[in-house]
Amino acid sequence: MLLAAALAYARLGIPVLPVHPPAGPGVCCCGRPDCDRVGKHPLLRHGLHDASTDRRRIAVWWERWPRANIGLRTGVVMDVADVDSAPGWHGLCLLLGGGPPDGPQVRTGGGGRHVWFRPCGHGNRVRLLPGLDWRGRDGYVVAPPSRHAGGADYRWLCPPTAGLPEVTPALRELIAGPPAVSAPAPVGDPDRYARAALEAEADRVARAPVGARNDTLNRAAFALGRLVGAGMLDEGPVCAELTAAALHAGLGRAETRRTLRSGLSAGRIRPWNQGPSHVA
Ligand SMILES: [Zn+2]
Repeated sequence: MLLAAALAYARLGIPVLPVHPPAGPGVCCCGRPDCDRVGKHPLLRHGLHDASTDRRRIAVWWERWPRANIGLRTGVVMDVADVDSAPGWHGLCLLLGGGPPDGPQVRTGGGGRHVWFRPCGHGNRVRLLPGLDWRGRDGYVVAPPSRHAGGADYRWLCPPTAGLPEVTPALRELIAGPPAVSAPAPVGDPDRYARAALEAEADRVARAPVGARNDTLNRAAFALGRLVGAGMLDEGPVCAELTAAALHAGLGRAETRRTLRSGLSAGRIRPWNQGPSHVA
């Protein structure tokens, strides 16, 4: 099934790469107990640069690793909006003009969504908004019917079609722009949005599995630091909530403090600008 799916993606012109599958819940088949990217990192030495549309190479890979997850190189046939929380979904819909996306859509095994667009020429962007990443040039995504570290399979909500939707100007501007330059405002109610983002990030940190805790905390601190820098959240509550969440997940106090401080300051100097239309 995985081989057939990999070949079908290749027929669409999408370069495919085999990716380490999870060996069990939260355990990576790469064998490293501290693996931070369970079920998501390439099996090939040169990773995404070995990705191919060649049927024979793909067949050889899945004969060798029949359970390998399927990675798809982005930026060639499609770019992908990677949504992993409700605020991320809300932000994406607003960037698309208010409605849900109408292109191909994947339910990821971790409960998030991947939404496909025509390539817009830009590279990856982490945390465009809290809960929203962009996979573009030189990136990849894990695709159905791969298995997620949590045990569920990635599956199609809307399968790929011939014509992919273009990114909207608002979304393109956010992907292209330096974050501090007046990005379009994707939120109708910034306060509510910021509170929801804090809740979602704290929740994600609290539930982060061993091996991904520090990385999850760092990303959360960075994303929320951008909102702190924009004056949408106060640093005190952000520190308090993320610290509680990290301790709940089992991280040590010293590590939590260190990661929190560096993530927050990196985010603060890249404030998320809501744009002039929402200053009033
Ligand atoms: Zn691994």
